Amino acid sequence: MNNKWIKTVESLLKANSGVDMQHASTSAIYHAVSRATMAEIADTWQKCKNAPKKRVGYLSAEFLVGRAIFANLYNLGKLDEVRAIMTERGVDISSFEDIEDAALGNGGLGRLAACYLESGATVGIPLDGYGIRYRYGLFRQEFENGFQKECADDWQQHGDPWSYRRDDESVLVKFSDFTVRAVPYDMPVIGYGGKTINTLRLWQSEQPDSFDFAAFDSMQIDKIAKDNIRCESISYALYPNDSTEKGRILRLRQEYFFASASVQDLIRKHKQKGLPIEKINEYVAFQLNDTHPVFAIPEFIRLVMQEGMRFEDAFVLARSVFNFTNHTILGEALERLDMKRVRKLLPKIAKILTMMQARIEKEFPDGKLFLIKDDTVHMANVAIYAGSKINGVAALHTEILKKSTFHDWYEAYPERFLNVTNGVTPRRWLALCNPELSALITEKIGDGWQADLERLKELEKYADDPEVRRAFAEIKHLKKVQLSEYVYKKEGVLLPPDFIFDVQAKRLHEYKRQLMNAFSILYYYFRIKEGKEKDFKPTAFIFGAKAAPAYYNAKGIIKFINAIADKVNNDPDVNDKLRVVFVTDYNVSYAEKIMPAADISEQISMAGMEASGTGNMKFMLNGTVTLGTMDGANVEICEEAGRENEYIFGATVEEVKEIKKNYNPWAIYNSDPELKRIVDTLDDGTFDDQGSGMFRSVKESLFGGWSADHYLVLQDFRDYVRAKSELNRDYGSEEFLAKCVRNTANGGKFSSDRSILDYAENVWKV
Ligand SMILES: *Cc1c(COP(=O)(O)O)cnc(C)c1O
Repeated sequence: MNNKWIKTVESLLKANSGVDMQHASTSAIYHAVSRATMAEIADTWQKCKNAPKKRVGYLSAEFLVGRAIFANLYNLGKLDEVRAIMTERGVDISSFEDIEDAALGNGGLGRLAACYLESGATVGIPLDGYGIRYRYGLFRQEFENGFQKECADDWQQHGDPWSYRRDDESVLVKFSDFTVRAVPYDMPVIGYGGKTINTLRLWQSEQPDSFDFAAFDSMQIDKIAKDNIRCESISYALYPNDSTEKGRILRLRQEYFFASASVQDLIRKHKQKGLPIEKINEYVAFQLNDTHPVFAIPEFIRLVMQEGMRFEDAFVLARSVFNFTNHTILGEALERLDMKRVRKLLPKIAKILTMMQARIEKEFPDGKLFLIKDDTVHMANVAIYAGSKINGVAALHTEILKKSTFHDWYEAYPERFLNVTNGVTPRRWLALCNPELSALITEKIGDGWQADLERLKELEKYADDPEVRRAFAEIKHLKKVQLSEYVYKKEGVLLPPDFIFDVQAKRLHEYKRQLMNAFSILYYYFRIKEGKEKDFKPTAFIFGAKAAPAYYNAKGIIKFINAIADKVNNDPDVNDKLRVVFVTDYNVSYAEKIMPAADISEQISMAGMEASGTGNMKFMLNGTVTLGTMDGANVEICEEAGRENEYIFGATVEEVKEIKKNYNPWAIYNSDPELKRIVDTLDDGTFDDQGSGMFRSVKESLFGGWSADHYLVLQDFRDYVRAKSELNRDYGSEEFLAKCVRNTANGGKFSSDRSILDYAENVWKV
């Protein structure tokens, strides 16, 4: 950065805070640095906005962007310079870490959206994000006696210097009972190298008229407050339930709110260019990130009909602009909405959905394909029928979609289905979070891999070079020292850096099987105490996860793991072999510290349940072996790195199907005394759930009712500890170090740049 930039920082500090650098708060300096950088990129941003090209709107109810300042400066190539300039002035920019971390998403799906936008800008594709500017993002997690407690995430408490409010581009969104104003806030999405800057436009809901003077005059203060709250409630908070759908009215309003605002925005821009509406498909494509934005389709048809088109033409036009990404096969997460509710809140949308249903009935009279059935609308079906492409997010997942979830649709429209395997941005998930490993990579293969990740392949030969292996291992150790210090400061738990760091970090869900991991800790715990694990290499088990506030068993599992941590960490018999920590408030910034420090990446979902996963890719890039099932993108990780470089266990998708035909968890439990003892700790008094009944409920999930051990924890347990013990034996060997190098070397496929180029070529045609 030049002289002009630091002058801007200083004058912003004076103008906004009335102080100079020496007297300013961290928050004020952060603000000034961010705004000075926004000024610096303004011209490029504007130029990119006006580029006369086809643009893609990426519609997503979630964008888990994480901390912006370092990633933006890094992509502009200014991070080191800014750090130096600020250090000269007595400011350590790492203090900005305490400030901002926008969590406008739950987990993988929202983080994927953020990676995709960054990659779009990096590869130079005009891809803009559209979403909701939640007043409160995902809750901040605390533990109280080991129980999860949710706190409000006030992410704007230090302001929001990375976006501009654009009042002049507001639009109205109408519900049957009231109308709201959608006000856009634009965030720059800076590509690596800084040449392309796209936009993330987040809508905030407000009252259409700023102030109701008539009501004020007649002293109807209650009415004013109530109207205001009703309007602002729509973008008030992110739904924190990850992948289960609650048919709530507010959720429906949120979905229509941002879908309508985004479609209105793109149609208006198209018309402003003086272009005919029938040609909009030459200038605009939409990608729907899961079913949350699917209202965009009937809304588009409605608006285009308002322009004078007939329904049939509007439908055909919609089909040429919309595409849909499916993220899950979990039945409860496939959105189905009660048409009674849609008719009541969105009568015009209900009417268009009904016309679409009539159209499909004419086309397929046998009724096998439908959008509405039993007065319920199936949002995924709407997206497949009225879209041009539908993709799954990993090869295995896409096959499952074709074979079972959407089999009838696949038979009717095979050409619409394709796979786009997820990816992550190597800028944030390797270059920025692991500068030490990045320097080593650059030393070996030269610069440029950051935006051409397939080049990592050039590292593969070094897997056989003992010196490079050792350099890899030394960096891993350094990252473990750094994480250990951070965890000690934050959690008060000491993780010795020469322990194996065994990590499971992701949302808490029964299908992800954190419970099985917890059981494995108890397995080693009891065996170590009985002297049966003489050669066990000391291991620190690290968990990071949030549970949806209403997900009772998930919260029970958190409490269980915290109880295990308490016992293990305070037992001198095992202390030199085992440590357990559940880090608080796992989020993007924590992930950036955890991934580079992990020796083991736990990806242990029941096969067929994890659509892709992206955490697995972040670990891989940082030279971590996967301990996992043949699920989601783990399959492709094995394909790329060679299965012998990972630790794979458990039933495959086909085996799961067979086993489920007559599964009997009791039989496994009764025939395996070691496992029985572990499971019984849930209710034999070993651990205390403080009368909450949570542990009993977790145990019952393994035995009770029709869905006994739905995710085959008991079934896969033995093969899991077999693989885990094998890994423990291999750890530290020359061959193990080579595996770590091979994981980084073969991670090139998992760059989100590759995913975006797939979409550009096969879906958006840009
Ligand atoms: C990458 C990421 C996820 C997704 O993790 P999975 O293991 O793919 O489920 C969730 N949360 C955060 C904060 C992440 O960075």
